[in-house]
Amino acid sequence: APLLQVKDLRAWYNESQALHGMNFDVRPGELVTLIGRNGAGKSTTLRSIMGIVRKRTGSICYEDEELIGKRTFQIARKGIAYCPEERAIFSLLNVGENLTLPPVLRQGGVPDSELLKQFPNLRERRKSRGTLLSGGEQQMLAIARILRTGSQFLLLDEPSEGLAPVVVKEIGQLILRLKAQGYTILLVEQNLQFARLVADRHIVIEHGAVVDTLSAEELVSDM
Ligand code: ADP
Ligand code: ADP
Repeated sequence: APLLQVKDLRAWYNESQALHGMNFDVRPGELVTLIGRNGAGKSTTLRSIMGIVRKRTGSICYEDEELIGKRTFQIARKGIAYCPEERAIFSLLNVGENLTLPPVLRQGGVPDSELLKQFPNLRERRKSRGTLLSGGEQQMLAIARILRTGSQFLLLDEPSEGLAPVVVKEIGQLILRLKAQGYTILLVEQNLQFARLVADRHIVIEHGAVVDTLSAEELVSDM
């Protein structure tokens, strides 16, 4: 059975409709990307799942429970974690302090010592303030912080954005490790090379609707 099932999802910003009937699902342990042009509705899809975009209709079922109508904190408590594109690091706090401020605390979260084993760079820079971190370190920190909640389903909005190729590779390796650990991941990605490298399946969005689903191999031959 799918972990997440989205049916006929429509979403609005005030009077402006951004999603026009999205249909897709994500199975447990899958790593799926949302790809498509700028403005297609990828970020809005993640924000709708999280309840950040509140004006939405249709159905978003997670573990057979309807999320539409629920508040963001209720959705987060179910074990869905969201890493927005803007990374949301507290620039005046250091790495360790940033880690203690997860969006929502759940029971059974990952302890810091355990968490930092996966992020040797961050462990070294534990006392560095957010502003002093590189873009890649900030992205790692943003991901580490959502892992701390103990959530098993991760929504990641363009983690590769604005990063040098060598750093993109590190982020890719991290995401593959998370997949190997059993996390289910829905990833917004503009960088198709990166998408190809990490994902099992790609959902192609145009004008607020799903127009195609591609396997890992199909994305290669299609581009
Ligand atoms: P993508 O992530 O695929 O680039 P978005 O989900 O950001 O696309 O945007 C989908 C549509 O919604 C676009 O037309 C965009 O201009 C609009 N949109 C996105 N965010 C907002 C917002 N905060 N207020 C109003 N319109 C928005
Ligand atoms: P993305 O496509 O990855 O969401 P954008 O560059 O479209 O990024 O959007 C950057 C920011 O501007 C987002 O916070 C988004 O919500 C906001 N935004 C995008 N389109 C609109 C719009 N038409 N009106 C108001 N805000 C918007």
